Amino acid sequence: MNKTVSILGSTGSIGTQSLEVCEKHNIKVTALAAHSSTEMLEQQTRKFKPSVVCIYREDKYSELKERLADTGVKVLCGMEGLCEIAEMDESDIVLNSVVGMVGLLPTLTAMEKGKNVALANKETLVAGGKIVTDLAKKKGIKIYPIDSEHSAIFQCLQGNRREQLSKIILTASGGPFFGKTYDELKTVTKAQALKHPNWDMGNKITIDSATLMNKGLEFIEAKWLFDLEPEQIEIVVHRQSVIHSAVEYNDYSVIAQMGVPDMKIPIQYSLLYPDRMECPTGRLSLTDYGTLTFAKPDYETFKCLSAAIEAIKRGGAYPCLVNSANEEAVRAFLNDEIQFIDIGEIVSSVLERFEYFDISTYEDVTKADSMAREYVRNTVAAKK
Ligand code: MN
Repeated sequence: MNKTVSILGSTGSIGTQSLEVCEKHNIKVTALAAHSSTEMLEQQTRKFKPSVVCIYREDKYSELKERLADTGVKVLCGMEGLCEIAEMDESDIVLNSVVGMVGLLPTLTAMEKGKNVALANKETLVAGGKIVTDLAKKKGIKIYPIDSEHSAIFQCLQGNRREQLSKIILTASGGPFFGKTYDELKTVTKAQALKHPNWDMGNKITIDSATLMNKGLEFIEAKWLFDLEPEQIEIVVHRQSVIHSAVEYNDYSVIAQMGVPDMKIPIQYSLLYPDRMECPTGRLSLTDYGTLTFAKPDYETFKCLSAAIEAIKRGGAYPCLVNSANEEAVRAFLNDEIQFIDIGEIVSSVLERFEYFDISTYEDVTKADSMAREYVRNTVAAKK
């Protein structure tokens, strides 16, 4: 394999699985960036021998530099470092698995340089949807989705005509609280919310899966990635996470993509596209599952989901506002400052709190982002 890749967010769940894929298929890793785990980044650097590494947290920079002093690897830090890596000539593809809004600017930087992007960072499309898709069109750039649902849809579109697509079916595991009533959610604990039935992921996305905000963000991403109207996206709860999503064409033929719930399959497809090779994961055995089930989501109970869908229907800054409000609310929940159900209350209140305004530049995104965060911080402080 003579592809080269830079990985942003290399010590996270997607990042480490991406490195497994790179190892399996001899994909050259040109650069690595991590948030704050200097020890793991050091190990990855010694093993994969990138020429440049970056630690996002600037207070960790000198420690990392010391750790790698004998390697001759160039060490960077902060957003500047992320962006420097994003535009490196040496990499064919930039894999962005950074968590949160931080991921948007590196994606835009990579695209400006004409790099194709393997995208796991949801906020890139949720907060910057229009800017990102316009830039991709202008530069002729491909965005290869890593998220299992979007990878599934992308796979189901291969060999068919996009204009004959009628809708997509976005599957949702339903998270650990599927079937619970709003009242029952009032007493759930952080430990319960951090336990996902099918997927092993980072804390932020695990909470988002429990509130179904994750599905709301994926709804918004799907709209931008596949150029759909919100009415063309149906969410179906499918507890087993075997069907990763499906598409329906004009003739009502529905094509689904299936596989074991393991992110290495979509990661590998994003890096090897259009090639398919043996993946370091198990085979799917349908008879081991026996039964696959499908249900409608509970939009009343899971307020984050309905708020995210309403946000993309209204357009403008709303998707960015609900996303940033959610990031701040999840942080407060993980810090034991608010209850689980407060997340949904806070995220949906953003729709009432802010008037419509447009997003046409990166600066507009950062403005909406800080407005939403300030609003949530004040709301959380008032609750104490
Ligand atoms: Mn997903």
